[in-house]
Amino acid sequence: MVDPHVPVAGNAVATNVELFERACEVLPGGVNSPVRAFGSVGGTPYFVARAEGAHVWDVEGNRYIDYVQSYGPGILGHAPPAVVEAVSAAAADGTSYGAPTEREVLLAGEMCARVPGLEMLRLVSSGTEAAMSAVRLARGATGRNKIIKFAGCYHGHSDSLLAAGGSGVANQGLSGCDGVTPGAVADTVVAPYNVLPDIDDSTAAVLVEPVAANMGLVAPAPGFLEGLRAACDHTGALLVYDEVITGFRLAGGGATEFYGVRPDLWCFGKVIGGGLPVGAFGGSRELMGHLAPLGGVYQAGTLSGNPLATAAGLATLEALDTASYERLEATAMRLAAGLEEALADAGVEAVVPRVGSLLGLFFGGRTPRNFDEAAASVASGLYAPFFGAMLRRGVALAPGPYEAIFVSVAHSAADIDATIAAAGEAAAEVAAELS
Ligand SMILES: *Cc1c(COP(=O)(O)O)cnc(C)c1O
Repeated sequence: MVDPHVPVAGNAVATNVELFERACEVLPGGVNSPVRAFGSVGGTPYFVARAEGAHVWDVEGNRYIDYVQSYGPGILGHAPPAVVEAVSAAAADGTSYGAPTEREVLLAGEMCARVPGLEMLRLVSSGTEAAMSAVRLARGATGRNKIIKFAGCYHGHSDSLLAAGGSGVANQGLSGCDGVTPGAVADTVVAPYNVLPDIDDSTAAVLVEPVAANMGLVAPAPGFLEGLRAACDHTGALLVYDEVITGFRLAGGGATEFYGVRPDLWCFGKVIGGGLPVGAFGGSRELMGHLAPLGGVYQAGTLSGNPLATAAGLATLEALDTASYERLEATAMRLAAGLEEALADAGVEAVVPRVGSLLGLFFGGRTPRNFDEAAASVASGLYAPFFGAMLRRGVALAPGPYEAIFVSVAHSAADIDATIAAAGEAAAEVAAELS
């Protein structure tokens, strides 16, 4: 047994394998979030020592072109100087006060200015908290209980939203989650993505990822978001966009601007924290007025609106202009086309769906429209060998087939070319294994 408290003898730098063995002694599965454990792809996670721009380096000194980017926050790439400086300066002034600060007002103002229809928001510390609190607010504001969500969409790990929760749960090969009581999900209805569900006047909220990015990448079918909007208007249910991934990524105003269909409530996270723990939920002044201290829906947080997180979020949003979105989209287009071609040339059938700068990768000839079709692609089993072959060539995709591919403004043309070249070799390796 490895003693996790003792550094590896005679070796200043532990290897990935050594660190993982020690991690498994003190952290369940060796990780603090299940998808990091390589359970669905096999092998040992690389332990990151540092990161800069499009690249991460592990403790053994291996460099990877990184398409995980913290699963979304890294839109500027790793350690962008403006964010590092903002966080360092903020830290010197104190890391948390339990009293309001100017940066909370500035960040909320920036977000409301960018997202069409967003008037007010509350900052929290994770996307999970944002979605959980938005549901409570929707129930409090409507006086109704039922919520509708879509299979394969992830809204964090609060009990009532874990039903059919996409990537994290799906990558573990679990059908559901132990410890979530039937009561906790009794008012949660799970419907297939891209089909208009039955929404009636007992429905408090319909939660949707406006682009589903936790079952690979699945775009909304034409008319899907418009249909949800109309049905919610008709029944008085609130439409809740979970923009934790799409927010400030698809466009300055997120999916709301990208598709031109406004929800009643929004959830945000990831990009708005610039890599620090953050989330937010918001809506109209009238709806947000139901929240304590103005109204009867309680919600709170010791670290909500944290000085470091708001400094990082502000610096990130300030760095994102029209040119950033054009660059992100151009990078993603080039990568999508290159990956598709490289895989096809090797004789491996695959599709690379793209919405704005978000990419997915599905093996097989069909572009999935919902979770069942995504799962059918994953059942090919090709993601794991492809992932491994890419990692050995210095390209880090997410260690699970249901995750999106995240590009950043820091990915250069050379990074993309190297990735496409690696994909050609990796695909040939996969094809050779198949035949
Ligand atoms: C990541 C994610 C969440 C949860 O955010 P955490 O910060 O991990 O709690 C919620 N919704 C979506 C769409 C996400 O991708």
